[in-house]
Amino acid sequence: MTKKIIGIDLGGTTVKFAILNAAGDIQQKWSIDTNILDDGSHIVPDIVESINHHLGLYDMQPQDFVGIGMGTPGSVDRQAGTVIGAYNLNWTTLQNVRQQIETGTGIRFAIDNDANVAALGERWKGAGENNPDVVFITLGTGVGGGIIAEGKLLHGVAGCAGEIGHVTVDPNGFECTCGKRGCLETISSATGVVRVARQLAEEYAGDSQLKANLDDGQAVTSKDVFEAAQSDDPFALMVVDRVCFFLGLACGNLGNTLNPASIVLGGGVSAAGEFLRVRVENYFKEFTFPQVRESTQIKLAQLGNDAGVIGAASLALDFDQD
Ligand SMILES: [Zn+2]
Repeated sequence: MTKKIIGIDLGGTTVKFAILNAAGDIQQKWSIDTNILDDGSHIVPDIVESINHHLGLYDMQPQDFVGIGMGTPGSVDRQAGTVIGAYNLNWTTLQNVRQQIETGTGIRFAIDNDANVAALGERWKGAGENNPDVVFITLGTGVGGGIIAEGKLLHGVAGCAGEIGHVTVDPNGFECTCGKRGCLETISSATGVVRVARQLAEEYAGDSQLKANLDDGQAVTSKDVFEAAQSDDPFALMVVDRVCFFLGLACGNLGNTLNPASIVLGGGVSAAGEFLRVRVENYFKEFTFPQVRESTQIKLAQLGNDAGVIGAASLALDFDQD
């Protein structure tokens, strides 16, 4: 196949685009601002215009492409090609995304949610090494995830498979935006890490610059917590240990259930790198039975921001088999 694929990563502030070859190598990349005004009604027309503009620039035709794939926030109906409930885009009513993009560009279009496509990207060209069994967890403002089992992305009956952020790890823990308690997201997201720090600061009596900053009402980020831990702040180490304990617990249970080749950690919090990975892995080993412990690896994501466009583009590869 010499035809190309287009990947779109639609977010609340920017829309990222990439043209890739069928092997998944990015050949062109660009982005535009997301205009969420007027109930997000400009978003899809802006996408169409930007694709057509760039095809003109590169002297390419619709028939040079197998298809377009897109990752989006919100609730996706993959069969209908529609999205609803993407609040950071102001999409509260049903959006006929596929119909508008196929009509506007003349190229076939596939869509899935943003966490799922990031998982597909890391699995295909990143830490997943194109293995058929890979779990991806993104530790950002929230915690998202995607599960690829036996080569297929799992969706579940209502499209909720892979919502790893809402795995209960602490039944008496913090309240979650989903309405229940102790979800992984309340602890291991960027905001969760700070929440854990605030909670533990109440009981911690020793010397710690991080605790002093929290008690002083300063704005503390999860990055600050990890940096303090890496410079041996004893309180910060305690916070990181707790965050990694719950992450390791969730990863352990995912490992025991799915036995993937790897569980890949991505998103802003994973910028803490090996410091985070090793600690999660230690708890993962504690919570897994021997065969899983030996065959499932805990890894760090490798693609950063490109995971979204690469995974999105891979959705279009299915068209080639039609
Ligand atoms: Zn939740």
